[in-house]
Amino acid sequence: MKKIAILGSTGSIGTQTLDVVRNNQDLLVTALSAGSNISKLEEQIREFQPMYAVVFDEKKAEELKVKVADLKVKVLCGMDGLLTIASMEEADILVTAIVGMIGIRPTIAAIESGKDIALANKETLVTAGHIIMDLAKKHGVKILPVDSEHSAIFQCLNGESQKEIDKLLITASGGPFRGKTKDQLKNVKVEDALKHPNWAMGRKITIDSSTLANKGLEVMEARWLFDVPFERIQVIVQPQSVIHSMIQFVDGGVMAQLGTPDMRLPIQYALYYPERRFLNGERLDFAKLGSLTFEEPDTDNFPALSLAYKAGIAGGSMPTVFNASNECAVAKFLNGSIGYLQIAEIIETCMEVHKLVDDPSVEQILETEQWTYEFIEGRW
Ligand code: NDP
Repeated sequence: MKKIAILGSTGSIGTQTLDVVRNNQDLLVTALSAGSNISKLEEQIREFQPMYAVVFDEKKAEELKVKVADLKVKVLCGMDGLLTIASMEEADILVTAIVGMIGIRPTIAAIESGKDIALANKETLVTAGHIIMDLAKKHGVKILPVDSEHSAIFQCLNGESQKEIDKLLITASGGPFRGKTKDQLKNVKVEDALKHPNWAMGRKITIDSSTLANKGLEVMEARWLFDVPFERIQVIVQPQSVIHSMIQFVDGGVMAQLGTPDMRLPIQYALYYPERRFLNGERLDFAKLGSLTFEEPDTDNFPALSLAYKAGIAGGSMPTVFNASNECAVAKFLNGSIGYLQIAEIIETCMEVHKLVDDPSVEQILETEQWTYEFIEGRW
């Protein structure tokens, strides 16, 4: 029986992780957690009967305690609660399906207690990759990617030597606005940006996919996961989202992982690695597929991708500024206080003004996040 704890069980990745658990008899959920959605969390607790449930919001946690008073589950709250389930003895693997940099400290706690990480929370590697990867090596734990692109690369690497990678080819759908110009993007509405052509995901990542900021975050995540420098990571638009990513090796051979857009595959692969298990669902039908097309990403009209490369190459605290400014700008776009094109403008301004901190500690990363939020609040 493999015991799993989930950070962010009520979200898109969290609920799909629980679907994988439903379809397998040898996974046991020992901890669940949410930000504030206690009605969904209560349903999950009743179904999966975990030892612990964490609600970040303290008041909501009190409400949940009353709702589940008939059960044995222990309800915790706040960062202390997240740290408890991240390091609990009764879990073998931590699924980090939480959104944002709040995932950093629990991920560190889990690694320090010897747990493998099924990592969806890309913000953790983007901002603290230098800390996380060293720590994982030191404690001999695996960081198993859940992001479909990174899982694809991880699957292509199976049986190959990391040293023989020539370049990583990260595929992108191009999002709902592929082909549009800045002029046409000026008045984009929230509901249009939330319509991803191929994947159903949480709101924040869906907006990021439309601006290509998500691809930028993935490039930075890949740099840490696979130890490949930025100049050897290429983004290629593949609008059908059939190829999930590829590796070109030093002999010119290219390995790709293909499939239908179903996040349960990378989730299940991470939970059972190196074993593959049966997964129900649609299969690719190549005869019906017709053609696969490829194009360069449009960084003139979608500058967030170039800004991400710039942040990644600058290193230190700059990826944190990219991530935090994007997160803050997306929240503002979602609540209607800024326009769509301002998302990239805000990221660019924050990166210009920020004074780089080399090799930042977790405290300095969190201070940089705070600085970025305050800087944005004072201006937009
Ligand atoms: P969602 O917004 O759907 O879910 C986020 C989850 O995190 C929810 O369970 C939410 O709880 C929880 N949460 C938010 N804040 C806190 C907090 N302070 N404490 C505890 N829990 C919290 O996000 P996604 O599932 O889409 O994405 C999660 C992560 O996975 C992100 O880093 C994303 O980039 C990455 N990812 C997502 C993919 C996808 O297909 N969705 C693909 C690849 C990566 P509540 O419901 O209460 O708000």
